[in-house]
Amino acid sequence: MIPVAKPWLGEEEAAAAREAILSGWVTQGPRVAEFEGAFAAWCGARHACAVSSCTTGLHMALKAVGVAHGDVVVTVSHSFIATANAVRHCGAEPAFVDVDPVTFNMDPDALERFLDEDCAHYGGAVYHAFSERGGLPAESPLALLPPEQTGRVAAIMPVHQLGMPCDMARILDIAARYGLPVVEDAACAAGSELSCDGGKTFAPVGRPHGAAACFSFHPRKILTTGDGGMITTADAGSDSAYRLYRQHGMSVSDAVRHSARKVTIEEYVLTGYNYRMTDVQAAMGIVQLGKLKAMVAERRRIMARYADGLSGLPWLTLPQDPPWGRWNAMSYPVRLAPGAPEGQHALMQRLLDAGIATRPGVMNAHTEAPYRTALALPQSEAARAHVVLLPIFNTMTDEQVDAVVREVRRGH
Ligand SMILES: *Cc1c(COP(=O)(O)O)cnc(C)c1O
Repeated sequence: MIPVAKPWLGEEEAAAAREAILSGWVTQGPRVAEFEGAFAAWCGARHACAVSSCTTGLHMALKAVGVAHGDVVVTVSHSFIATANAVRHCGAEPAFVDVDPVTFNMDPDALERFLDEDCAHYGGAVYHAFSERGGLPAESPLALLPPEQTGRVAAIMPVHQLGMPCDMARILDIAARYGLPVVEDAACAAGSELSCDGGKTFAPVGRPHGAAACFSFHPRKILTTGDGGMITTADAGSDSAYRLYRQHGMSVSDAVRHSARKVTIEEYVLTGYNYRMTDVQAAMGIVQLGKLKAMVAERRRIMARYADGLSGLPWLTLPQDPPWGRWNAMSYPVRLAPGAPEGQHALMQRLLDAGIATRPGVMNAHTEAPYRTALALPQSEAARAHVVLLPIFNTMTDEQVDAVVREVRRGH
């Protein structure tokens, strides 16, 4: 069986985790601090704060830019459901805009149209009422408030879907025009690079481009710590806020208290959470980060081999770098054209019968129970229905890539 994805873990990660366990310090401590420093250096970010997952990171990043109960965050439905859930965790509601059919990412034109045509502007702020756009889902936290206390658009949250960089230059430009902060869901995007000057210079996602970028270290992504995440930001105040929120609002971290030579009594300055990463996870993360450059290079090599093998099929569109980015090839989405000899389901079944695991295109939150309304997003729905994710992982052999290519092409 060729799996669709597989983390690249070995003796080095096991040894690092073992060392952390035997050190006696297993929760957030020196290894978390070291991992944060290394990750910040890797991205060129001013601050990096390790957290328990990307979802908890997004929750805190949205709170730190001021998203509060009753607010609206403009994002995409075409994403893992955690993107939308993080908005709800703030007591806010996601307003979904459609995606671009080539990159599967937030369409800047759709964002602009939403802010222009589907929102009202007064007092220097932007307001959205859900009534004309599918209504408000029953589970929405906004359903509990009187309408006059809801609808302030508080942030824009684009997603670098499957690691594919968003058109950030345009999104940031639109956001600046409306005075809105941008929080990047960079769950899949560790190692992807972005250009904001038309392709002249590139910088890693997370430098950051928006107010904050949140990464995931779930095993489905490129770099893994089992579970875990990281928030990068250039804003010292936000970084301090994350550090309070992640540890119950406690004014002194365990590590500082432990190493203090004077008796230190902590205070609890706000209602916090337990969103910490453990030192066992961070130990793995330090090793994984050391391999990230090689992981991206190898995936891009596999991507090129796929592109070679699958070229010339008029019914199959292959993924490629957008002009503004260099992709980490975290996944390999191919798109079936309307006239394809086989539909998504038939192709996936045929590959499965041949021992090749695949997945359908990314899900859409707006068609799942918690977010379902009358809203239609044609590009998002088409991407879910006509995309197949082919296997790609770091230890994938050329023979395995060629076997997938052969099977996709069989009979065509
Ligand atoms: C995986 C993923 C998340 C959630 O990450 P966790 O670390 O599992 O919380 C959020 N957004 C996107 C786009 C993802 O792919």
